[in-house]
Amino acid sequence: MWKKFSSQIAKAIIKTTGSRKPNLHEPLFDSEEVKFVKKCIKSTFVSSVGTQVNNLEKKISKFTGSKYVVATVNGTCAIHLALETIKAKNTEVLIPTLNFVASANAVEHARATPHFVDCDERSLCVDPKKLDRYLKKISTVKQKDCFNKKTKNKISALILVHVFGHPGRIYEIKKVCKKYKIILIEDAAEGIGSYFYKKHVGTFGKIGILSFNGNKTITTGGGGALLTNDKGIAKKALELSSTARKPHKWKIEFKSVAFNYRLPNINAALGLAQFKKLNSLLRAKKNLFKKYKKAFKNFKGIKLFEEQKNCKSNYWLNTLILSKDSFSIRNKIIEHLNKLGIQARPCWKLLHKLNHFSHYPKMNLDVSNRLEKKIINIPSSPKYGLR
Ligand SMILES: *Cc1c(COP(=O)(O)O)cnc(C)c1O
Repeated sequence: MWKKFSSQIAKAIIKTTGSRKPNLHEPLFDSEEVKFVKKCIKSTFVSSVGTQVNNLEKKISKFTGSKYVVATVNGTCAIHLALETIKAKNTEVLIPTLNFVASANAVEHARATPHFVDCDERSLCVDPKKLDRYLKKISTVKQKDCFNKKTKNKISALILVHVFGHPGRIYEIKKVCKKYKIILIEDAAEGIGSYFYKKHVGTFGKIGILSFNGNKTITTGGGGALLTNDKGIAKKALELSSTARKPHKWKIEFKSVAFNYRLPNINAALGLAQFKKLNSLLRAKKNLFKKYKKAFKNFKGIKLFEEQKNCKSNYWLNTLILSKDSFSIRNKIIEHLNKLGIQARPCWKLLHKLNHFSHYPKMNLDVSNRLEKKIINIPSSPKYGLR
């Protein structure tokens, strides 16, 4: 029975993408990328100094509306930088368990403790109501800080991940953060071109981050960015990302221990070429979603995930949600699709279930535990939406 169901899903994916072996997400390049990278190589400025990296930061700032942008070697270090600038060391940082491993690792790098929270089925992102109830029970606000009553640690921040590019319930979450004096950081790694009430994701919290990894909507090879409207944080992040070197014509001195996280100019060159086609890529991705919507309209037992009201999603990945929560069914379908050469993927294994994170504090994670068994991500490369 699952074989027949899987075959119908495969047929719908092949018809929609126009490919017999569609991949999950691949970048789109043409002569523009070659031109920009060539120019950078000719200039010899291929590392962390150069005009392209500054230009890319300006482009990101203009596109997202974030006042300040610091380009980094990847999204994970942008999260790490964010946590360093808010001094998260020795505190607890709330992160969703239905999440890529980047923020959990970044919390560890910042010598803080991940504290796992649940999501809701409507947004796939942090559930603000459940978070409010939980914090009411386990925390106490003293003066300007929030403390975990059990561990006695300060809870410094929440990292809201916009899962698969879909905006979370940002206003409600901001309210909860304000109530409990917790800093909001947005992991918008997957969310370039996604909007919440017409404002770009990653610009609502104190700090936001983007990723330009090869599997994201636009890429710099490896790369990321930290977004903020706070001048002090931007200055600190830039300094920490470039070895805290003191600006001087020829002296080489450093202010503090720091990182080598600045995006190289040659990666930025690739990014500038990608930025030129960002709007057409976003249109193609939306078009692909619409085609999938038609293809899966009459399916029973499976639903294509759709953006919430007042949200505009970039549909980084298109997601099928099974009505039954069963690892065995999910795995059978994904196995079948992959055997045919269709790159379908489950969501990430929940973070609190990984051995190295299993001892950390967590709330009841029922919804994530259920969703993990229901999510199937299907081929979403922009090229499938061009026609
Ligand atoms: C891609 C991604 C990141 C950052 O990943 P990098 O590979 O370090 O750029 C962070 N969070 C999420 C949710 C991601 O998908």
